[in-house]
Amino acid sequence: MPFSALGLHPSLIQALVDQNYEHPYPIQNEAIPAILNKKDVLGIAQTGSGKTVSFVLPILMNLQGIADSKSRHINVLVLVPTRELAIQVNEVFQLFGRVLPRRIKSMAVYGGASINPQMMGLQGVNILVATPGRLLELVESNAVHFSEIHTLVLDEADKMLNLGFTDEMNRIFELLPKKRQNLLFSATLSNEVDTINRVLLHDPITIKIEPEKDNIDLISQLAYFVPDEKKGPLLRYLIKHNNQKQVLVFTSSVYSADNVADKLRKNGIEALAIHSKKSQGARMDALSRFKFGELRVLVATDLISRGIDIKFLPYVVNYELPRSPKEYIHRIGRTGRAESAGEAISFIAPADEHHFKVIQKKMGKWVTMIDSVGLDLQGY
Ligand code: AMP
Repeated sequence: MPFSALGLHPSLIQALVDQNYEHPYPIQNEAIPAILNKKDVLGIAQTGSGKTVSFVLPILMNLQGIADSKSRHINVLVLVPTRELAIQVNEVFQLFGRVLPRRIKSMAVYGGASINPQMMGLQGVNILVATPGRLLELVESNAVHFSEIHTLVLDEADKMLNLGFTDEMNRIFELLPKKRQNLLFSATLSNEVDTINRVLLHDPITIKIEPEKDNIDLISQLAYFVPDEKKGPLLRYLIKHNNQKQVLVFTSSVYSADNVADKLRKNGIEALAIHSKKSQGARMDALSRFKFGELRVLVATDLISRGIDIKFLPYVVNYELPRSPKEYIHRIGRTGRAESAGEAISFIAPADEHHFKVIQKKMGKWVTMIDSVGLDLQGY
């Protein structure tokens, strides 16, 4: 079905064309009409499936007819697990919101940043994208009111629960008007997510999109056997030798993210680290420079392995393996998204060999292994 058959405003269709979206993704085909019809939706879908657009567009449409709300009374609440996702989802609301005739104001609020500008900015906001903790702080300060909320979105609900937001979420649910539309998106339908589904959603339309595993076929995967002390030279060799321009490198700790980025810079390769110990400003700056191709290498902890969308990212390097196979799939899923091909490279030290076998088994795919002994890493 083309976008034009989904009941969207012509200027949204034009905006989709401008974004080079040729046809709706499966989740969009199903969720957009359901949300326009004010149905509750349970979407089991990962990042990369196009789920953000699948709720952003119909929510913007449903807000076209609303009257001006009282000050600080939001209409739509989108709960997300991380600041990065809050910012990203808000950007999608703004991208498409600005082409519609009725001005819709959206805003992202999240912890780790000063609360005052967020309190001031909430004036006249229709759509609020929030992390749970900061939202409750704003409620306690009387900076935002819930009585006019007609739509609740839980984005990456499983991640929110995993991060320990259950109490905050339940407190928020109790404050919401009873009559409302509920949209729940989660990568997996765990017992906890299903409990929320049963408590919050009424007769939902259930949409299940096959996990990122399918995307894995788009990603060419390679792994190098390499002793720990040779990982740095190997990384620099690959970047320089293959002239890699936009590389996302994952490490397993803050310390090693900083260390890898430092060494790259010392070797003349522009790199920044992004992790939980960096200020919000530094994180946003590094991420946006990387997204726009102004920074060659971003070295990250798993903080950003989920939810962050970087268009056409060609290379992901696992400098250190993640603990869980699921996280491995999320990490390499940062490439090969939106139907574009990418390459994922993993560094396997002797101590990782067994663990990497487990990962491959879980993924259902065997990765070509190369021994770095055969590479001339002198001078890197
Ligand atoms: P999401 O799953 O919402 O994180 O979206 C994943 C990526 O797919 C984002 O880069 C979107 O801009 C892109 N995208 C979403 N829908 C479409 C579409 N119909 N055609 C092409 N790209 C899309």
